[in-house]
Amino acid sequence: MKNYLTEQIKEDFLASLKLLISYPSVLNENENGTPFGQAIQDVLEKTLEICQGLGFKTYLDPKGYYGYAEIGQGKELLAVLCHLDVVPSGDEADWKTPPFEAIVKDGYIFGRGVQDDKGPSMAALYAVKALLDSGVVFQKRVRFIFGTDEETLWRCMGRYNELEETATLGFAPDSSFPLTYAEKGLLQVKLHGPGSDFLQLEAGEAFNVVPAKASYQGAFLEKVIAGLRAAGFDYEETADEVTVLGVPKHAKDAAQGVNAIVRLAKVLQLLAPHPALSFIADAVGEDATGSRLFGPILDEPSGSLSFNIAGLTITPERSEIRIDLRIPVLADKEDLVRILSKKAADYQLTYEEFDYLAPLYVPKDSELVSTLMGIYQEKTGDTSPAMSSGGATFARTMPNCVAFGALFPGAEQTEHQANERAKLDDLYKAMDIYAETIRRLAGE
Ligand SMILES: [Zn+2]
Repeated sequence: MKNYLTEQIKEDFLASLKLLISYPSVLNENENGTPFGQAIQDVLEKTLEICQGLGFKTYLDPKGYYGYAEIGQGKELLAVLCHLDVVPSGDEADWKTPPFEAIVKDGYIFGRGVQDDKGPSMAALYAVKALLDSGVVFQKRVRFIFGTDEETLWRCMGRYNELEETATLGFAPDSSFPLTYAEKGLLQVKLHGPGSDFLQLEAGEAFNVVPAKASYQGAFLEKVIAGLRAAGFDYEETADEVTVLGVPKHAKDAAQGVNAIVRLAKVLQLLAPHPALSFIADAVGEDATGSRLFGPILDEPSGSLSFNIAGLTITPERSEIRIDLRIPVLADKEDLVRILSKKAADYQLTYEEFDYLAPLYVPKDSELVSTLMGIYQEKTGDTSPAMSSGGATFARTMPNCVAFGALFPGAEQTEHQANERAKLDDLYKAMDIYAETIRRLAGE
């Protein structure tokens, strides 16, 4: 297989990536009339300007939700699904280099977004530039779609899909190599119930985290501590509070965590009965695959259901349980919702769907997956199998799209962390794979 990259391409890629990193494109809703913040608007416009310079036709959504850059002709559309927003830097004291200034050192590039997702996006873009320089002609249109709200609510792709053309096929360079062909359905739910005069609780963080702490203050303090001790659960105590200690995990791996809210509920419901506690302790229990509720839910492409009790609120007026479910790609979501709602009703709880992302599933023996896997294997010699994931990429926003790269197996995953970094050689290797991929999928 040919390598289309030149030193000039690599240099130009690096210059553009450095420029994009310099925009702190963190969500800042409605700033200066933009939907997601001035820096996000600016980096979107700058990216389209770069694309224009490379020969693409570009389009900027007048409201600033997304933009795209297109090249080639033909009826079919190959989409490359990118995003330009980044998560906040976190505590800058934890960084050895300024997060929004790309620094190249010891073969690595440092800066917020070099892995997620500005680095991979630019690698795919300059892969096309390399093809153009080599005289490759496109028989499909290749469209880079630049989202701006990936780290939060995906409102960019929501609007794109309302207004714009959907892809014939495509990939999101926003995950790991070799390739993700299945991403579970992602359902976030709230169960609403009665309040309590004698029990006040507020526990949990985001939907996507297994809660590592759940605290109790109140009249049953001594008995709760005795109950936790008898059950062998970890906790820490102060004069007026006890905190159950769990093991935090991403909700997609809930079964590998220990849920502090569930443990507190198991002990507390014996002392201070409440429907929300009973639901958590009895209907769900500590099994984070949801099997007590649904029976075993799993399939070959994507594995087991994940069921994470993410949050619990009890006030005098109301109670609320927040749940994150990762649903195997072949499972019937409506069926699960029916069972969950019915069980909740037994505990005086009413079901509310908070958010839902449909699953991604492109079978392993599909032409898209076998082509991409073949290219990856030939370019790297690595025979790691295609993957399924409980995580979410833009690949699931369109039919016949998969997540493809750009992190290599064994490479350090530093996205969303301090000192986010990417090995330059890995980015060039990804670019080489993307060039061959786009040539094969859309070239003559
Ligand atoms: Zn990303």
